Amino acid sequence: MKIISVIGTKDTGKTTLVTRLVEKLSQKGYSVGTMKFSHVHFDLADKDTGKHRQAGAKIVVGTGKETFILFDNPLDVESIITTIESYDELDFLVMEGFKSSKFAKISVSSLKDDYTIQQVDVKSLNDEKMDELVEIIEKRSYGLLQDLNCKKCGFESCADFSMDKVQGVAPEVHCKSQFKGALLEVNGKRIPLNPFVQNIIAKTVTGMINSLDKDSEDIDTIKILVRDRD
Ligand code: SF4
Repeated sequence: MKIISVIGTKDTGKTTLVTRLVEKLSQKGYSVGTMKFSHVHFDLADKDTGKHRQAGAKIVVGTGKETFILFDNPLDVESIITTIESYDELDFLVMEGFKSSKFAKISVSSLKDDYTIQQVDVKSLNDEKMDELVEIIEKRSYGLLQDLNCKKCGFESCADFSMDKVQGVAPEVHCKSQFKGALLEVNGKRIPLNPFVQNIIAKTVTGMINSLDKDSEDIDTIKILVRDRD
């Protein structure tokens, strides 16, 4: 899953650009998710779920035609991305905000850092320019990097890889150690796994499950949670 972050100062068109990117990427056949950073509460205090939270619920869930889970504390970005990746196979995650993150960024204002691949004026982005922007994002964005530094992409380190990606030097090179076969978290922290280790874990656990359940040939996903209560 590649990640692009839209950054900018207040009221400069971040949400407008995020929605346009979601539309464009979806039209190209990509499966897209979004994530927004906010200093204010997401839930409205006068709604039922807001009342649940005010009463002291640590986790509030709303479900019906759609489902949301509201935690009463912020989670770190890596944990949220891990949860998203464990839930669905998205091609792109478009983030609004997160200006200090180390993902490829589009800036809609004067904000800029080493990860900013383009600065744009949202009002002047016509359809043609949006198409060009999406092409740049396809080539220069990348997924969650965890300093595994496995060198399988040909770079000495993940930092070197990300710098060349955002600068457009390595448009066709991709991180080889993204989540494909197995994802491991210990104490809420994702453990970086190279493709070889992912393969071993995936095959070992699948073999174990198959030996428990003879009818489980169509396994798509296995989730195991181990909690040490001692
Ligand atoms: S393949 Fe991925 S994890 Fe390995 S060094 Fe390159 S960017 Fe880092």
